[in-house]
Amino acid sequence: MAEPRTPQTFTSTREKNLSFARENSAYNKAWFEDLQRRAAAGEPIAFVNADVPTEIFKAMDIPVVVNQWWSSVIAAKQKSAQYLGALNALGYRQNLCKYCALGFAATLEPNPEEAPWGGLPTPSIVVSGNECNALQKIFELWARKFDIPFVLLETATIEAPDSADWTSRARRDWESVFGARAIDLLTDQYRELIATLEKLTGRTFDAERLRRINDLVNEQEEYYFKARELISATRPAPVNIADQMPATMIPQWHRGTEWARDRARLFYEELERKAAAGEAAAPNEQVRLMWIGTGLWYNLDFYAHFQERYGAVFVWSIYLSIAADAYATYGDDPLRALAGRMTKIARIMHTPPFNVAWYVAEAKKAGVDAIVSLGEGEGGEGCREVFGYTHLLRKGFEDAGIPYLSLGVDNVDARSWDEDAIRARVGDFIEAEVLAKRR
Ligand code: SF4
Repeated sequence: MAEPRTPQTFTSTREKNLSFARENSAYNKAWFEDLQRRAAAGEPIAFVNADVPTEIFKAMDIPVVVNQWWSSVIAAKQKSAQYLGALNALGYRQNLCKYCALGFAATLEPNPEEAPWGGLPTPSIVVSGNECNALQKIFELWARKFDIPFVLLETATIEAPDSADWTSRARRDWESVFGARAIDLLTDQYRELIATLEKLTGRTFDAERLRRINDLVNEQEEYYFKARELISATRPAPVNIADQMPATMIPQWHRGTEWARDRARLFYEELERKAAAGEAAAPNEQVRLMWIGTGLWYNLDFYAHFQERYGAVFVWSIYLSIAADAYATYGDDPLRALAGRMTKIARIMHTPPFNVAWYVAEAKKAGVDAIVSLGEGEGGEGCREVFGYTHLLRKGFEDAGIPYLSLGVDNVDARSWDEDAIRARVGDFIEAEVLAKRR
């Protein structure tokens, strides 16, 4: 295996094109400082993977940090190369799953005062889904290192998906799409998780509070749906992916609060205003691109080069579109609706036939000329949660006549990034697969 590249650090000079971007970042930071204060005062905190519903913890007033959220903070603070290097020095392989392992790698920080945002307090419990074995092992390391409980949530295979016209049924008829037994299994495990949390923390689960949280989440996600539809339909696009991702993800981490719902509304309203005024990421938009993959958190400035050089705009991000299509989930039983939400997110992201149909339909709707995929990583595998069944995805795009480029780099490991080489690859791809074919 190739040695990792010399670490690069990236300084952002990116202009923020949404008026509230800095406010959102400040809120996020202040929220984390409050969490640190609560932990220092002896309150329990939870550290969970992104496939675990934070809504349950919020309904019990247990501060909760999401693994991938924390990884994105670490990567944005340009600490990934140091921490992943420290993990490799302990003998862990260089191509391990970095988005999921970076949080654990950060526990190797030798100087606490240099940790991003002052560092993550030691959690009282860690929780993860088991859709991928690597993830399970990473969370076992957390539990062993800090001698804390680890709850693993099993996910059932969908027995006989009813995928006919599923996109229009997924908000309210999710149970018949994914099957009651898969929902039953997850709901039962959520009950067990709640019992464990009640015992560990002495706090009580409040179903009515969860219902209110779910309602707020649904309201929030409907704004993302409108935002995504607006961007897909607007030429030139009002914002590119580098503005979309933080505008979506920061409120998503705080979903279930009025603040998060209101920031999603603000996002949509600002897009509406921009579209009406003709404000665009690239006024001379020539090429529309879809970015498949997780956030390039250490280098969000990457995308601007292609706007300037080719009028090529990355108009589509998985974060906004998953928010738009997978999160809003309506149902009478709040715990069951939560199981429906988390099942839907997983299936749309990485399980055929849902993922292939969804990505291709989204590409067509947004009028993209080509796909640039972050992943498939070293060895052609990449994150199964994001790039599941990539060969089918490639075939879906091939059948639709949409060119596809895979970069094979990691979204949080700055050591895998060679700015000049990757700019050249993407530039050549745009030239050959889009612009040359128009001539
Ligand atoms: S395959 Fe994906 S979800 Fe699993 S550990 Fe790797 S990065 Fe994480």
